[in-house]
Amino acid sequence: MVRADLHTHSYFSDGQLSPADLVTAAHAADVSIFALTDHDTVDGLPEARQQAASLGLHLIDGVELSTQWTRATTKRAVSVHIVGLGMKDYAPLNAVLAVQQTIRARRAAAICEKLEKITKRPAWDAVLALANGRPEGITRGHLAQWLVNEGLVSKPQQAFDRYLGEGKSAHVPLEWLPMADGVAAIVQSGGQAVLAHPTRNNLTSTALRQLLIDFKQAGGRAIELPAVNEPPATRAMMNRLIAQHEFLVSTASDFHGAHMVWHKLGHVPQLAAGQTGVWELL
Ligand code: AMP
Ligand code: MN
Ligand code: MN
Ligand code: MN
Repeated sequence: MVRADLHTHSYFSDGQLSPADLVTAAHAADVSIFALTDHDTVDGLPEARQQAASLGLHLIDGVELSTQWTRATTKRAVSVHIVGLGMKDYAPLNAVLAVQQTIRARRAAAICEKLEKITKRPAWDAVLALANGRPEGITRGHLAQWLVNEGLVSKPQQAFDRYLGEGKSAHVPLEWLPMADGVAAIVQSGGQAVLAHPTRNNLTSTALRQLLIDFKQAGGRAIELPAVNEPPATRAMMNRLIAQHEFLVSTASDFHGAHMVWHKLGHVPQLAAGQTGVWELL
């Protein structure tokens, strides 16, 4: 049986493990096809490749792009994450990643400035240390961790509820690339574009349906199945949409580390009858 975990994070973004330790852990968790998909960077891949080769684990090149999808009917921009798998020629993707990393570093500085004003504590150096000294790799996960470390909130969720979430005091509006451009960059690089965690964008079912149509139109081929801990009704709804729009599926844990107990490495949903794994194309 294939156990494909095709969406995970190392400390090249907001995961806790090094790429090599992550690959070792995936191998130990009986994962048979594995992808490292750090946020807006592929810098961890060489180390992951080396470790996968030494363990004989099937590794697929991956990335998770932060994009925004603007709904034609409402003109509202929604943040959507796209996983890219199996890229071969990196030139188109690298051009997009360079811009994304600039946006990430700039947004992190802007959020830190707000947090420093609100909390009257220096934030930047400590946040940068949490992101392994890479400003282009800072995510709100790191900023939430800083708030926890400072004792200002008790857990990351509270950091999002009080400071980092949309409309909260330290929120900085997103300015990521359009979803279609992210999908295009992955496809032009010879990869497959997968819509990540489709049910975690707080969309109405009408909006979700439109997102799937736009994603397919842009060149997207596969949808990530809802995580194992999501309700059966959510999975049933996604199964219907996947069949209706003839998408391939991907399976993933979105593992970040032991600190996010709800994402366990290698804990992936099973395919329903009639569904085809995107790995068949990789
Ligand atoms: P960013 O891409 O910088 O906006 O950061 C998003 C990251 O923050 C996600 O990939 C998660 O790892 C983390 N995150 C988002 N929401 C939450 C939450 N409610 N609790 C903990 N971590 C979260
Ligand atoms: Mn993350
Ligand atoms: Mn994501
Ligand atoms: Mn992720």
